[in-house]
Amino acid sequence: MTEHTLTVAGVAVDTRHWIGGERVASLETFTDVSPIDGSTIGEISRGTATETAAAVAAAKAAFPAWAATSRAERARILHAIADGVEKRIEELAIVETTDNGALLRSHRRGVMPRVAHNFRFFADWLLKLDHEDFETRGHTNHVSWDPAGPCVLITPWNAPLMLATWKVAPALAAGNTVVLKPAEWSPLTASLLADIAAEAGLPAGVLNVVQGYGSEIGDALTSHPDVRRISFTGSVPTARRIAESAAGNLTPLSLELGGKSPLLVFADADLDLAVDLAVEQYDNAGQVCLAATRFLVDESVVEEFTRRFVLKATALRQGDPRDEATDIGPNIHPRQLEKIDGFVRRAIAAGARAVIGGHRKDGQYYAPTLLADVAQDSEIVQEEVFGPVLTLQTFATEEEAVRLANDTRFGLAATVATGDPERAERVTSQLVAGTVWVNCFFVRDLQAPFGGSRHSGVGREGGTWSFDFYCDVKNTVTAPNGWKNHG
Ligand code: NAD
Repeated sequence: MTEHTLTVAGVAVDTRHWIGGERVASLETFTDVSPIDGSTIGEISRGTATETAAAVAAAKAAFPAWAATSRAERARILHAIADGVEKRIEELAIVETTDNGALLRSHRRGVMPRVAHNFRFFADWLLKLDHEDFETRGHTNHVSWDPAGPCVLITPWNAPLMLATWKVAPALAAGNTVVLKPAEWSPLTASLLADIAAEAGLPAGVLNVVQGYGSEIGDALTSHPDVRRISFTGSVPTARRIAESAAGNLTPLSLELGGKSPLLVFADADLDLAVDLAVEQYDNAGQVCLAATRFLVDESVVEEFTRRFVLKATALRQGDPRDEATDIGPNIHPRQLEKIDGFVRRAIAAGARAVIGGHRKDGQYYAPTLLADVAQDSEIVQEEVFGPVLTLQTFATEEEAVRLANDTRFGLAATVATGDPERAERVTSQLVAGTVWVNCFFVRDLQAPFGGSRHSGVGREGGTWSFDFYCDVKNTVTAPNGWKNHG
């Protein structure tokens, strides 16, 4: 224990950066606050250009040896990191819940096991990664995925460790080194990940963690000439700034951004299933990029759909996310709560009707809200709220449903509830979205491509797509009898 160690729900968390295999403190700090009750968790090192440069330098220095490490050895270390995560699931879960307010039961049972799986999956995929050699007029073409170099990974607060490791694992598997910049509203589990990776034997400098405000250190990271890849998950305005900053070096970017995804409920749908899918959208207090926040319901069933939805949604229990019985926790930060409430106030002023909710509650909690009587071109239908606020619209025909579904600047996901497989095929083929779910929601396999269309993102990650992004993909063509004159 040092003066830089916090005890968070009984778990020791180092508040410093992790650079080149050492803990490094900044002179300044920022205050980390728990959304559960607004209490101060502690002071975290506030990175500057100095620590940022040191982290990139450490990643650069560690790159040649890690890139030259055999695939089997890289995979072994990634599995050891997964083992370390699994051993510490309880600790990671309670620290994450304290830091970002998402449900403890989800962290325990879903999120942290998935964090471990991120490492196992990309370790195993690396070993399978192959492309059959092929011939061109007797020449052999051989495709290889070569490590690219230091990667900067920048992540948001809504699912901190899950989203960080979904990038860290493939970047490391690919033979790259990493500088991870977690969000300033939820910095803690990234520090625990550094401990776990070091215990697992990951060499110094291969994973570096820099804490701090994106507005202060983001640019130094994303404009750095030694950085070979930038993967970012967050908001559209930040993505624009990063793209501008990366443009000088033409650094390849993967951008996973916001959404305003639709849930289409057709008259032939199983309404109970549709309502279950609808209520799920309050998960993580609505702070889920993939959430289907716009309900588009056939006008012939909207009354019954709404009746059943209200019954289920008003039965959800809102409260302390550490309580096993809680369904909806707090929102992350007073600023986010202000933003959510502003959206709702403006929507109501513009004529929207709150079917349920529509107001703040005590502390950092917002009442689960459904707004009806909303116009397609209104702010509440077009802009991402990132809180427990959903809208309800109706359609008369399938064509209208598809038109409304596609009529925002986003294209992250879409969910379709229908009992007709032919309709499902017709509709899904017309939806603009990186992921479409039919009669289900949030089923995610790591071998599937993941990303968004339009303003929801640039590029795809997942399975081989991740290696395509994190590697320099190379084709080597060898002449027939290529060695004849070279003996
Ligand atoms: P944000 O864009 O404000 O911040 C994300 C990260 O970027 C943080 O770590 C922040 O410090 C950093 N950052 C801020 N300014 C920066 C700069 N100039 N240069 C570099 N980095 C900078 O987003 P947020 O509010 O933390 O996250 C919510 C957003 O993330 C929502 O829009 C949500 O939809 C999106 N999101 C998308 C996905 C996805 O997979 N598509 C997943 C989760 C969240």
